[in-house]
Amino acid sequence: MSLESMTSNLWSGQGPTTDQVSSDRRTKIIATLGPSSRGPEKIRSLIEAGANVFRLNFSHGSHEEHLAVLKDVRKVSAEMGAWIAILQDLSGPKIRISNVEGDYCPIADGDPIELRFSQDKSNLSNAKAIFVETVNPMTTLKAGHRVLLADGILELTAEKVNTDHVMCRVAKGGRIRSRVGIAFPDSDVDLPATTKKDFADLEWGIANGVDYVAISFVRSAHDINELRKVINAKGSAAGIIAKIERRAALENINEIIDAADGLMVARGDLGLEVPLEQLPMLQKKLIEESNYRGVPVIVATQMMHSMITAIRPTRAEVSDIAAAVMSGADAVMLSDETAIGEHPQECVRYLSRVALAAEQTFEFQEYKLRLRDADSQTVPDAIAYAACAASIKTKAAAIIACTETGNSARLIGKYRPHQPLYGLSRKETALRRMALYWGVRPIFFDSGESHEFEIESSLKVVQARLKLPNGSRAVVTGGRSTKTPGSTSILEVRAMDYL
Ligand code: PEP
Repeated sequence: MSLESMTSNLWSGQGPTTDQVSSDRRTKIIATLGPSSRGPEKIRSLIEAGANVFRLNFSHGSHEEHLAVLKDVRKVSAEMGAWIAILQDLSGPKIRISNVEGDYCPIADGDPIELRFSQDKSNLSNAKAIFVETVNPMTTLKAGHRVLLADGILELTAEKVNTDHVMCRVAKGGRIRSRVGIAFPDSDVDLPATTKKDFADLEWGIANGVDYVAISFVRSAHDINELRKVINAKGSAAGIIAKIERRAALENINEIIDAADGLMVARGDLGLEVPLEQLPMLQKKLIEESNYRGVPVIVATQMMHSMITAIRPTRAEVSDIAAAVMSGADAVMLSDETAIGEHPQECVRYLSRVALAAEQTFEFQEYKLRLRDADSQTVPDAIAYAACAASIKTKAAAIIACTETGNSARLIGKYRPHQPLYGLSRKETALRRMALYWGVRPIFFDSGESHEFEIESSLKVVQARLKLPNGSRAVVTGGRSTKTPGSTSILEVRAMDYL
């Protein structure tokens, strides 16, 4: 897009409404639910603002609390006719501090503070001593090592390792919150990706039909395969999102992308593992690799950090979001901003507008060319590529994927079509899964058995939805056997004449 045409857009009057932004936006929005955003009305307001996926963070909260939230999401989204996915984020072996006296506590620059190991939940951290779970600071730290809290916002320096505590000095103070993460970037801590608690939480997630499970601190494909075994054994359709936040994951990234259903650039913990200045390049590379394989990629953490309290994002945050969208992220995620922030709905609204504006500059053609030789050689992938090419050649008004699992819609989204992309399915699990896929607008649709009938009725549904005049064209993909997953082999270009 030229600077002239961008400038003329700036003076074209009123911006789009929230509804228009949400329906035109291709990049999906994940909002973490927490104390600031629980309850049917707040959930409704986030969906209205543009949230597509809700994240339940299992580092906090009880099963009962999460169940109440999950039920509210299901109820509200059904009332609104919105296909919303639920992402269960397993805490993994994240090292955390205990609860804090009064929940918040200030620690000042230059003050001494002790680090103590404790698994006794009744020990509360305060400005004099911090209790650490999972890892013993006495065996992990040496004098001079850094200790980072809350994604590195606070920093301590270890001064002396004693027999029952490590004496530290506050290098960068602030407020510590109950159960924030604590990291030891100068020490080698190798913990398994999935803990006993995670497996118990996963059982809960499967029993309650979550759509995605995020696995924290992944090291290799093996970690994902172990989780997959449990998911498959229970007949769950949940997809697995690999959170990339360890150096080991970067070393094994190809096998991880092949094993997972999605990737999360978990910038909070990743930014503690690698030099911070390397993070933007790593993010770009992870997006490129995921795009190449058609695996959805989520950019997470501190996207609108200032909006935890402020009513507007900073210029830098807006640029960060736009950069993520323009470099090919399928989804962007809000954490504390919506979980404990003061303006959850405003955050989603801003994120949505910024993402849509960034998409206007997206080089759609270039994307298709870049991915033309992407490694997948399956028939559904070839059909997906051809659908995007056919939609350009025939000036189609829409692309329609009739899909059993949502996969063919995901593959079409991989080639970033300019036309509106609809994923039609009779399966609720597939419809919710598609909520995460770039550009895909899920629609419930049960066509019966015959392939011909499926094509006809899908065209009718989409023509009515888009209010397209008779004679408009659409590209439709589907399978000969409409109920067999992975059988997409048909592409038709049809005129819509059903009004
Ligand atoms: C992250 O580290 O960026 C992240 C998303 O994980 P969590 O919020 O669970 O620490």
